[in-house]
Amino acid sequence: MKVKIKEWHAVATWRWDMPEDEVCGICRVDFDGCCPNCKYPGDDCPLIVGKCHHSFHLHCILSWINQESAKGLCPMCRQKFEVAA
Ligand SMILES: [Zn+2]
Ligand SMILES: [Zn+2]
Ligand SMILES: [Zn+2]
Repeated sequence: MKVKIKEWHAVATWRWDMPEDEVCGICRVDFDGCCPNCKYPGDDCPLIVGKCHHSFHLHCILSWINQESAKGLCPMCRQKFEVAA
């Protein structure tokens, strides 16, 4: 059987607009770890993904959003931060 993989690249090159995929944009700790306020990664320190496709530790984005100066915007792209369903 002969299979030609010609269309492969169109799919493979697609990526999110994220410079560093695996780290929280706020605390810069990678998603295998927890935010600076928690001791253990996992259910106690969940990750949250916004509609803009940026992801953060829940605790990090909460403390960010609670700052007056944040104005409810994503710290990475400055769009309104809404949690992706
Ligand atoms: Zn974080
Ligand atoms: Zn945490
Ligand atoms: Zn964003």
